[in-house]
Amino acid sequence: MPELPEVETIRRSLGRQLTGRRLVAVKFGTRRVAMHPGPAEFRRQLIGVTVLGVGRRGKYLVFSLSNGRKLVLHLGMSGQVRRFGYDAMHKHEHLRLRFSDGQTLSFVDARRFGRVCVTNGGALPRPIRGMERMGPEPIDAGYNAAFLAARLSGRNAPVKSLLLDQRVACGVGNIYSDEALHRAGIKPDRRAGSLKPPEVSRLTGALGSVLRDGIRWCGTTMSDGGYVRVDGSVGSFQDRLRVYGREGEKCRRRGCKGVVRRKRIGGRSTHFCPACQK
Ligand SMILES: [Zn+2]
Repeated sequence: MPELPEVETIRRSLGRQLTGRRLVAVKFGTRRVAMHPGPAEFRRQLIGVTVLGVGRRGKYLVFSLSNGRKLVLHLGMSGQVRRFGYDAMHKHEHLRLRFSDGQTLSFVDARRFGRVCVTNGGALPRPIRGMERMGPEPIDAGYNAAFLAARLSGRNAPVKSLLLDQRVACGVGNIYSDEALHRAGIKPDRRAGSLKPPEVSRLTGALGSVLRDGIRWCGTTMSDGGYVRVDGSVGSFQDRLRVYGREGEKCRRRGCKGVVRRKRIGGRSTHFCPACQK
């Protein structure tokens, strides 16, 4: 699933390409992802409107529009934002937007967990209501060890599971939680409440640094497809992952002789090094 660095990489391309462009056409595919409002109203609220900017909150892309509304996109498990240069709709293309300068933007999602909504600033529509409960992002200046400590304190759940909670570490998913725990030297199945202050402090730093590195290397594209950049090219952080997707391979911590293991924690496949994560 695309996480904060992948969505941020997409946001940066779209911000450059679409800011100041006016929407002239909206086309729907035959099979749909969750959307709001229905097609006729969706089209009515978008056509003729200019994109003022493209933002991001957690794993959501947020387009600010000249009519005061926002177009919100969540890529779900396998969603992609692409620009196709031909007329026929792609097999898994749910939505295509066309702009005044001829640019197009397509939302493609084979597994259909994605969501596309237009909001008016009032109550959020059901498909994106999860946005209301999101906490700060580990790359925010105000995100600190005191905040994380308060969220982990007294909790019996494995620390890995709590890092996936968007109220605790907004924007983090399966890849970056495993990488942050490895950087911090903490075993993912540790009871969250058992972390000592220096460990929480290391984890706070690791969450921020791994997300920033992910952005710097334009996100992680695994071999099972899923995330690609807007131009269809792959990210390059997958070459720098230290544990995720590396079961049976040597740990990448300098001096560590450990071998990466995989284990299910809270229903999610989790990668860690038993030698250097305590
Ligand atoms: Zn190791």
